[in-house]
Amino acid sequence: MKNVMVVTGGSRGIGAATARLAASRGYAVCVNYLSNREAAEAVVDEIEASGGHAIAAAADVSRESDVDRLFKVVDAKLGTLTALVNNAGILETQTRVDAIDAARLNRILTANVIGPFLCAREAVRRMSIHHGGHGGAIVNVSSAASRLGSAGEYVDYAASKGAIDTLTIGLSREVAEEGIRVNAVRPAFIYTDMHASGGEPGRVDRLKVSLPMKRGGHPEEVANAIIWLLSDEASYTTGTFIELAGGK
Ligand code: NAP
Repeated sequence: MKNVMVVTGGSRGIGAATARLAASRGYAVCVNYLSNREAAEAVVDEIEASGGHAIAAAADVSRESDVDRLFKVVDAKLGTLTALVNNAGILETQTRVDAIDAARLNRILTANVIGPFLCAREAVRRMSIHHGGHGGAIVNVSSAASRLGSAGEYVDYAASKGAIDTLTIGLSREVAEEGIRVNAVRPAFIYTDMHASGGEPGRVDRLKVSLPMKRGGHPEEVANAIIWLLSDEASYTTGTFIELAGGK
């Protein structure tokens, strides 16, 4: 069976590394992005130049109509979905809980929790043998923040990743008999643009001395774990987490 993947937030960082690796392993890949079309098309061009197959598709995962359209585009252009990487996520400027307003909480929770739930729903509708599908696998990109709490930085973001952990456990049990495995990765301190969104582009280099490994991680190191969890090598693995946080 042909492997067809959606990577949400596949235009940059961990998502882009995952899209590239997946394509090199034979997946046809939909590189979803929010607004950075140039970056998404660069990932697609690189994949196609290496002999792989990919498309770019803009969709805001926090909007239900966009998610519906995204998966319909994949049905039409790539075929039956076999893998979902729920990777898109945001954080905002570092702050304390006593300075957070409801508008910010809504933005974080809508993008980081509602988005992955909606994408998981669409994936299950296509993969579940109860819906006439042939099975598949989902990897949710959580964060070590769900364990550590991100005090003084972004407890809202950490809490959104706590919800992703719970989604992973609950959904994995709900669909285990339907041919779908659901796992998660919990990265931290990975060199991507995300830390600039928090107001500190050099955050990984500031914090790396506090990590047992004394270094930051690279998007490709997270992608390796994601692709393994999606692969048949992980065929008896569901509802689990791989920590990618330099030992923290
Ligand atoms: P990044 O470099 O900031 O890239 C974010 C990606 O998500 C971009 O492709 C962006 O698209 C896309 N995106 C953002 N909001 C979206 C939305 N509403 N709908 C669709 N796409 C959206 O981030 P990253 O560091 O690679 O993070 C990827 C995932 O890893 C996130 O879930 C993050 O929480 C998690 N994570 C990262 C770290 C880390 O240290 N970097 C640690 C733990 C967990 P555009 O290019 O169009 O903006």
